[in-house]
Amino acid sequence: MRELKIDPELRDLLPPLSDEEKKKLEDSLLKLGYKGAPIYTWHGYIVDGHNRYELCRKHNIDFLTDDLDLGDNATIIDVMEWMINTQLGRRNLPPAQRISVVDKFKRKIQEQAENKKIESNQLFRGNRYTGKLESSPNGEQSKKIHTDKELAKMAGVGTGTIARYNRVMNSDDEELKKKVLSDEVKINTAYEEIRKKETRICKVCGKEKKIIDFFGNDNICKECTRKEAEKNVNIPKMQSKSTQIEDIKDVYEDVLTAKNAKDQINQDYELSWLNETCTDFISQVNDRLFDLLCAVEKMDREHIEEANSVFENFISNVFDIQEKLNNKMKVEEM
Ligand SMILES: [Zn+2]
Repeated sequence: MRELKIDPELRDLLPPLSDEEKKKLEDSLLKLGYKGAPIYTWHGYIVDGHNRYELCRKHNIDFLTDDLDLGDNATIIDVMEWMINTQLGRRNLPPAQRISVVDKFKRKIQEQAENKKIESNQLFRGNRYTGKLESSPNGEQSKKIHTDKELAKMAGVGTGTIARYNRVMNSDDEELKKKVLSDEVKINTAYEEIRKKETRICKVCGKEKKIIDFFGNDNICKECTRKEAEKNVNIPKMQSKSTQIEDIKDVYEDVLTAKNAKDQINQDYELSWLNETCTDFISQVNDRLFDLLCAVEKMDREHIEEANSVFENFISNVFDIQEKLNNKMKVEEM
């Protein structure tokens, strides 16, 4: 039987199968033998099929292999990206676990960039060549560093959810972190819990106040900001219209991204994705307009009216979607 190499980092990129999933796979292999896609390898290392490989070896079942060709310049980053794109969608994982997979990927990119920086610094130490290298020691690599938006897409969640996840994971509430990762507590609930506990000291009045008593990342509490604003006639510059539209487009894009190949569709996953996306949208808008950034307080009548028409448009689109669902049910009843 062919022996394949295992890289722990690649093996552990996605969470292990549940006992139940593993049992199902084992039963199917014993009953039907090896079926379906080959076990993929890259330079001899398994990149898809760790579980099937382990079970085939255990029961001495023949399996197929195929080499993954990502081109000569491919690195482990490309391999991980391929793994996430092909494997994350077919696993029915809760959002927190999907984000944690993408988070491992992001850390790997950072680690690689850091290594490359050290390498090139060592390489050029004592050399007169200084300027250019230090400013861009890893130009090629940094081009590849994925934006939060791209990472969010990979995980199949909104960027807001990633931000909330990070806030929770950066907290010192170990118990809560564990519960989020095991899907016992939803990301939004955990985030609210963390936020309620956070305080900040106001730079003006010196009082320790809850985070909700500040605008966004301000160091001056709302009360002091208001007092300050009353003294000041200058109206702060409005966020440009095009950025606002970009933001709304982001939300649409998140809503519209069909991440998974059609044949991998899992209806429970779709439902939790829908739920997560809608909840995320509502809490992002609430945070931005009212609760956290309180943008609405800096908007004039004209802009509030425009925001209102954006919502009118949005609501009518939502009604259209609901109509489609209703029609689908009617067809089903006939
Ligand atoms: Zn204050």
